[in-house]
Amino acid sequence: MMNIQLKYKRVLLKIGGEALLGDREYGISKPACIKLAQEIKEIHDLGAEIALVVGGGNIFRGMAGEKAGFDRVTADYMGMLGTVINGLALMDAFETINVPVRIQSAIEMKSVCEPYIRLKALSHLKEGYVLILTAGTGDPYVTTDTGAALRALELNCEVLMKATKVNGVYDKDPKIHKDAVHLHNISYTEAIKSDNITVMDNSALSLANDHGLNLLIFNFFEEGNLKKAFLGEPIGTVVSKG
Ligand code: UDP
Repeated sequence: MMNIQLKYKRVLLKIGGEALLGDREYGISKPACIKLAQEIKEIHDLGAEIALVVGGGNIFRGMAGEKAGFDRVTADYMGMLGTVINGLALMDAFETINVPVRIQSAIEMKSVCEPYIRLKALSHLKEGYVLILTAGTGDPYVTTDTGAALRALELNCEVLMKATKVNGVYDKDPKIHKDAVHLHNISYTEAIKSDNITVMDNSALSLANDHGLNLLIFNFFEEGNLKKAFLGEPIGTVVSKG
């Protein structure tokens, strides 16, 4: 099955909720979920072990909720529940295309999905299930980026891949500055200090930096990029200890 050499065997892939929007402005598009699942299936078929952390930005974000007058902690729980909804949509998409899948939540909801249990998660990965991890860390005041860094470390993933709409990190905003330079490698310290570079929340960056987890940021919406990332082709930006 594996005559193509993967650079990474076990990866934590962080997908923002907006990837599930498709051509909608809010909510979830089934065709977008299927497309996403198909891209992941291609890598899974090559023998990769994939844990997915899914965001909830297409449904609700705590920070926006707070601005709209909700209590911050309640709003964060609302956001976390949004990630469970997204996780179920992705599970449905994987099942539609016959990929073995399991879903866990950091907030217990027994009749909907398994609770997050590290050893069980590890065994699902070893057994070849795509593992969807929802509800972030289960705690407020952070986002799913922090959940992704935490789970990547806990599940011994070789790299955290963050699927975005842009081709990694630039020295300045490429939408405003035509001479913006694409950076192939940056250090966590540079990413944390810089006002121009917004890669992930600082809490996620600090966690990854402290424990030596590498991060690859790449444009997931360009077809074939996920495979290139797994094969170790030079796409996106790698953030490392430096
Ligand atoms: N959230 C949280 N704790 C976590 C993960 C998520 O409180 O560990 C909440 C937070 O309000 C966040 C929302 O869930 O804004 C949705 O997640 P996120 O913003 O990371 O979604 P994305 O931008 O990746 O789609």
